Amino acid sequence: MNRVTVVGAGLAGSEAAWQLASRGIPVRLIEQKPKQKTPAHKADSFAELVCSNSLRGAGLSTAPGLLKEELRRCGSLIMEAADRFAVPAGGALAVDRDLFSAYITEKIKNHPLIEVVLDRAESIPDGNVIIATGPLTDGKLAEEIDSIFGQPLHFYDAAAPIVSAESIDMESAFAASRYDKGDADYINCPMDKEEYEAFVYELAHAKEAEVHGFEDKKVFEGCMPVEVMARRGEDTLRYGPLKPVGLRDPRTDKRPYAVVQLRAEDKEKTMYNLVGFQTHLLHPEQKRVFGMIPALKKAEFLRYGVMHRNSFISSPGKIDRHYRVIGRENLMFAGQMTGVEGYIESTASGLCCGINMARAILGKEPITFPDMTAIGALGAYISRGSEYSFQPMNINFGLIPPLEYRVKVKRDRYLAVSERALGALEEILPGVKEDIK
Ligand SMILES: Cc1cc2nc3c(=O)[nH]c(=O)nc-3n(C[C@H](O)[C@H](O)[C@H](O)COP(=O)(O)OP(=O)(O)OC[C@H]3O[C@@H](n4cnc5c(N)ncnc54)[C@H](O)[C@@H]3O)c2cc1C
Repeated sequence: MNRVTVVGAGLAGSEAAWQLASRGIPVRLIEQKPKQKTPAHKADSFAELVCSNSLRGAGLSTAPGLLKEELRRCGSLIMEAADRFAVPAGGALAVDRDLFSAYITEKIKNHPLIEVVLDRAESIPDGNVIIATGPLTDGKLAEEIDSIFGQPLHFYDAAAPIVSAESIDMESAFAASRYDKGDADYINCPMDKEEYEAFVYELAHAKEAEVHGFEDKKVFEGCMPVEVMARRGEDTLRYGPLKPVGLRDPRTDKRPYAVVQLRAEDKEKTMYNLVGFQTHLLHPEQKRVFGMIPALKKAEFLRYGVMHRNSFISSPGKIDRHYRVIGRENLMFAGQMTGVEGYIESTASGLCCGINMARAILGKEPITFPDMTAIGALGAYISRGSEYSFQPMNINFGLIPPLEYRVKVKRDRYLAVSERALGALEEILPGVKEDIK
């Protein structure tokens, strides 16, 4: 039987179903809405944007801009809708969320090869299957996914922001480990008394993101947001994550008043997280307040801190770069639950699943999106074993191999990476498109 069952009509599931049907493969798309909704979903339509209506940077000097361009060139339904219903948003691509979702819902419901089943899946269906039930997957289905991988879906409710290494001002920071133990693995960002007190004040008074129904206080007890610590007293952070003990600033040869430590997020040390800075602040507030740390004045945030329920598979070693379960290749996972983070990243994984599930049914080898493309970099990220703890990740240039030559100006460098990515994509596009009816 050549039919594919796709579970979940979010960003990833809708894209996957569309790619399959466009290649002549019949699809059964199971969606629990409107019968049942997660605490974040409110609309009855498919491909609902649960929070912001922005699909982030539009230009090719940004990684989200590159990813969107690759998706367009591959014939993404989500991108077709996004471009059609774009609203003015400066350098970003934002959309009218209602028109966007309505368009995708209509296209899918009217496709003769897609049968929509409005019901909740309580188990993994038999046959060729793509599971795309998102970061709020729960109940019996989540339990069955746990049992497939022999461990519970990883679950995080707090993550600290990540900044690019090259945007850290090393004139205001120094590499060292506390008490000089082991290698100098941390980048330390010192603050004097005045800087620290101003920082703590702004942190304690900064604006927090809207709280969703499921994000009750109990969830966060074990992992206190940095702004909550700041509100507990001026010195709380100086005796907590910002403690300066065991550190000497080589510029003054003194122990700083307070220190923010940054820890590498990847082996290549292109990205660093702010240790202990799990936060629930609005993104612009994170940029403003964390930018008061002298070494982070011009920090580029590759990912902002988030606090929400987010179930995901610890994919490396379990899911390959084509999003297939290793050892069970007619079962694929798509979307945020694979460890990609964000609307367009979820879309990209759905697109890969749809294209390569169709190819498998047609007796063809999968298309490998090269690492130097944004789509390929995401597949490589989720599948690559890492000694570092695996966390969902937005697309960013740190995931794409660097250029083999030096380009000094960052914007020009990013444009060159994008140009190289689109060149590599052109080479595989005939294969991507060959089965489209
Ligand atoms: C609260 C919150 C806010 C977020 N904000 C943003 C943001 O602003 N920007 C951003 O880029 N990303 C954001 N994300 C992250 C992520 O990009 C989105 O969650 C994105 O929608 C993920 O796409 P997806 O296709 O994996 O899952 P979803 O879009 O969530 O789609 C999953 C679909 O599966 C259905 N479903 C679930 N379980 C079942 C079942 N058992 N049977 C049948 N159907 C089922 C759901 O109803 C839903 O339609 C946010 C996530 C959360 C949780």
